[in-house]
Amino acid sequence: MVQNPHNEQRRIMKDNKASAGAEKAITSRAQDYSQWYLDIVEQADMAEHSPVRGCMVIKPYGYAIWELIQKDLDARFKAHGVQNAYFPLFIPESFLKREAKHVEGFAPEVAVVTHAGGEKLDEPLVIRPTSETIIYEVYSKWVQSYRDLPLLINQWANVVRWELRTRLFLRTTEFLWQEGHTVHATEQEAEECAEEFLDVYRVFAEESMATPVFAGLKSDAERFAGAVRTYCIEAMMQDGKALQAGTSHMLGQNFAKSFNVKFQDENGTEQYAWQTSWGVSTRLIGGLIMTHSDDKGLVLPPKLAPYQVVIVPIGKDEELENVMAKAEEIAAALVEQGVRVKIDKRDYMRPGPKFFEWEKKGVPVRIELGPKDLAAGQATIARRDTSEKQTASYEGIEDAIKDILEQIQTNLYDRALEHRNAHMVKVDNYDEFKSKLEGNFVLAHWCGGAECEAKVKEETKATIRCIPFDQASENGNCVICGKQSKGRVIFARSY
Ligand SMILES: [Zn+2]
Repeated sequence: MVQNPHNEQRRIMKDNKASAGAEKAITSRAQDYSQWYLDIVEQADMAEHSPVRGCMVIKPYGYAIWELIQKDLDARFKAHGVQNAYFPLFIPESFLKREAKHVEGFAPEVAVVTHAGGEKLDEPLVIRPTSETIIYEVYSKWVQSYRDLPLLINQWANVVRWELRTRLFLRTTEFLWQEGHTVHATEQEAEECAEEFLDVYRVFAEESMATPVFAGLKSDAERFAGAVRTYCIEAMMQDGKALQAGTSHMLGQNFAKSFNVKFQDENGTEQYAWQTSWGVSTRLIGGLIMTHSDDKGLVLPPKLAPYQVVIVPIGKDEELENVMAKAEEIAAALVEQGVRVKIDKRDYMRPGPKFFEWEKKGVPVRIELGPKDLAAGQATIARRDTSEKQTASYEGIEDAIKDILEQIQTNLYDRALEHRNAHMVKVDNYDEFKSKLEGNFVLAHWCGGAECEAKVKEETKATIRCIPFDQASENGNCVICGKQSKGRVIFARSY
């Protein structure tokens, strides 16, 4: 067989590239947490900075995680009667101005198109920072009668918010998200809907992201611009900072009045509708990284891992042929069980660097398969979460691996919950508050006053993450001003 010199050269280049990657260490969390985060994003090959400042390129491995998040959430939404639709990227500037609080909140961060087709536009077009205004203008035509309600629609889209300080996945100028927009006949129905979809997010975070969250109400200062109430789920990252993982807004009739979303009720009386909106974004991927990963790289919960199992065949020549045949057999049995599996067939890389690479990419289970395993009728199974290794015989190996994947999913949740529990601190005065804030969620009494909240933010950079739904009724005094309070709220610094 004639060697193709181009193939040979490509092989050498790939070899060099692979070994260069293997030498680059991940900064430890203890040394520099934010550099550790960026190293994980880079070395797990998830995303990179783009030629456009503040915008990211989501690479195939990172995008595969997003696709799994989408698929999972989409099924949950549809189970609640939601349909998907798509609305324009551009919003006439005048639309944004119709809801006063909304424009006030979003004006500082919008990008505006003033010219198109070589001409100045009559009316500038805002690139959507969120789509309430454009969607509700359309809804005003769709909604006529009580028979048209409830209207439950979701859009998967990109949005743009001009950010000065950006961080891959966590805060970027353009990001991907979903936004649900619903219309209801009564206030109660809308309120129930806002809470219902927050709960969808909570369950998704717990079941699929293996991430415990606090669900609750935002303070007025943290409320979505134009909403009556904003609900949220908040997750604790490994450094004790909070990540807002999802929000749901009870919009009341604010937008309905600005956009004329009206319907005739059963008595033929015209009424303004009640609305909600809710969203989660690609920042959830940042949350996954900072909840589960370690100094060796990314750690992914099996439910959101692009590959749940990677099989690394070991051996040469004829031996390898037999190993490969067994690898294919195991892979087929796993695929049959609905497991996402990959056989790493790269012939230009040795097993060691392959192990290292899949570890960095957070693959939950690695199967090592060599001639010795074959002779013993078994495979070596390595868990990413605990680094434990065990062997399994071929008979029923797919069931054994499914069990291990479930154990990993549970273990990651338990581990995250344990970490969170260890970093919840009750404080009863402001000095204690300030000394305990670093690395913790602080539970403190708050009078409900915006001034106290603003003072804390100014002096400590901490914000009220939420007034938890399960807040215990407890009389106390605001840690800032000493006025009466009926329960503790969660303060933390956040991403
Ligand atoms: Zn106070």
